[in-house]
Amino acid sequence: MTDTLPQGATIGILGGGQLGRMLSVAASRLGYRCHVYDPGANPPAGDVAAQVTTAAWGDDAALRAFAASVDVITFEFENIPTATLDLLEAEKPIRPNRRALAVSQDRLSEKHFLRDLGLTTAPFAPVSDAASMSDAVAQIGAPAIVKTRRMGYDGKGQARVTSSEDGPAAFEAMQGAEAILEGFVTFSHEVSVIAARGLDGSVAAYDPGENLHEDGILRRTTVPARLTGSQRADAVLLAGRILNALEYVGVMGVELFVTPHGLVVNEIAPRVHNSGHWTQNGCTVDQFEQHIRAITGLPLGDGTRYADVVMDNLIGNDMDRVPGLLAERDVALHLYGKPERRAGRKMGHVNRIVGRD
Ligand code: AMP
Repeated sequence: MTDTLPQGATIGILGGGQLGRMLSVAASRLGYRCHVYDPGANPPAGDVAAQVTTAAWGDDAALRAFAASVDVITFEFENIPTATLDLLEAEKPIRPNRRALAVSQDRLSEKHFLRDLGLTTAPFAPVSDAASMSDAVAQIGAPAIVKTRRMGYDGKGQARVTSSEDGPAAFEAMQGAEAILEGFVTFSHEVSVIAARGLDGSVAAYDPGENLHEDGILRRTTVPARLTGSQRADAVLLAGRILNALEYVGVMGVELFVTPHGLVVNEIAPRVHNSGHWTQNGCTVDQFEQHIRAITGLPLGDGTRYADVVMDNLIGNDMDRVPGLLAERDVALHLYGKPERRAGRKMGHVNRIVGRD
């Protein structure tokens, strides 16, 4: 394939957190170098990437130098400023593409995109001021959740509306940011599909995982998820539709609610995803390698699941469990090298192979 990046080529990664770190490790296994760009000093990916630029998203000179040093650009989080992307895109290919980013950066366009594809989402209405909030509550009803359209993650920028009287307070909690009101979906459990699309348009999906959140943060992913055969097929097929519609290149996480009436799409993440970390110890080719393969034009790898896995995030003081975990059988530890523990901060994760004799 002529578009395949040669050995020794350099992949630029925007964002140097744990996802960038694990992407860098996977890239180096395939013979590529990584150059990480992050505004924060000493990012976790900096320990393993060949090169790190510490500069603001608005530093045009640093962005140009970064672009000149890489062959392709990818990212580990979706909230990169538009102007930064405009500058970089003029220099080097960005994969996944801008459309995928634009759709997922804004919860309202994401919902419209999914609905236009014929997929089921929570009922939703835009909220931009107190009047539209009361219209939205009248239309959607309670319970509901108000979420900022942009920059929300791990349940941040969200407030519950349990009755119509909560509307004004929930709107206040958004601090004037553009928002959407989402009807509350009564689900039995949450699952996600991690899927990839290659430069040649081929698509591969991992077995869906079942996700448990606490305080809006992913706590645990279990594979296999509790799904019927047809739900599993639906989940994988809808992920493929999303990838094809966006002409996507790379790995994506698609979060779903399981309801008695079918699967409801919660959100899409245009990147490797926390709920796909189990693939590191449950598949021959994990999500990080799959993403690198996709964006460099290599063929997608074998993502068949060969083990049952439970992935637990190690958050804040969960790090106290590390010595005990190191002594356990069938446990693989993945630490992110973050020097400072904080409540709610993801410090690492553990993949436990279950059901083996
Ligand atoms: P999000 O940041 O949109 O992924 O939301 C974080 C978590 O809040 C989800 O994983 C769900 O557990 C819950 N949640 C979000 N939106 C809804 C909804 N419309 N109905 C029910 N639960 C929701």
